[in-house]
Amino acid sequence: MQRSFDFGASPLPDVSRPLLAIYGPQRSVARMDPVSQLVKSAISGRAYDEVSWNAFFRLRAHYNADWEAMSLAPGPALEAILSPTTFPEAKARQLPVLLRMLKHRRGTLDLDFLARETVDDAMAWLKALPAVGPKTAACVLNFSRLNMRALVVDTHVHRVTRRLGLSPARGDVQAAYDSLMDQAPEAWLAEELFEFHCLVKRLGQTFCTHARPRCRACPLKEICPRIDAGGGDVLAFWPRA
Ligand code: SF4
Repeated sequence: MQRSFDFGASPLPDVSRPLLAIYGPQRSVARMDPVSQLVKSAISGRAYDEVSWNAFFRLRAHYNADWEAMSLAPGPALEAILSPTTFPEAKARQLPVLLRMLKHRRGTLDLDFLARETVDDAMAWLKALPAVGPKTAACVLNFSRLNMRALVVDTHVHRVTRRLGLSPARGDVQAAYDSLMDQAPEAWLAEELFEFHCLVKRLGQTFCTHARPRCRACPLKEICPRIDAGGGDVLAFWPRA
């Protein structure tokens, strides 16, 4: 048996509130330039944060933050640096192509011009680059010093918001992004969307995990339609995340 919760006009604050109570405010401490953020996000696919950050720091140190030099580097050299991440061979192949395409389109490795675009136009421009999807594009806009109003939907945010009924049960990341951005309060700016991302991600890492969500202890159990009336933990009818 499922329960329903009468979310307010915008359900996202109803999700944030209990999470803020246990995780506290989430603020970005160090924003990078958008090209560095693009590099970081491009190597983060299916990798733990600690692993991808370490790989990024090694790349940045090795090439002295000269991303143009890195874009001309031989694949095996890059692969060796990226090897602790998942799919290092594919990432070593795609990353230089991505940066060379950016240089080709702009004449320089610079994404600061995106600050003058609307979020939708900036997202579309980034997604036209090779191997850049809605998650990476939103990371560049929201996590970097561009600080734009775009929600990063990573695997945790996607899974949790599907279980909460806030993004389409069978939709992809783009569908989740569209749905969540539509539901975000107009008053929410980049910082609030950053905070929502961090809070929901932490819930996904601690309570609403992929395999064994801890519904009975979850701070969202009162509003989540996926918890059964008896407070059970694992529900067979969940869609695959
Ligand atoms: S109640 Fe269960 S399914 Fe719902 S958000 Fe919490 S852990 Fe996830």
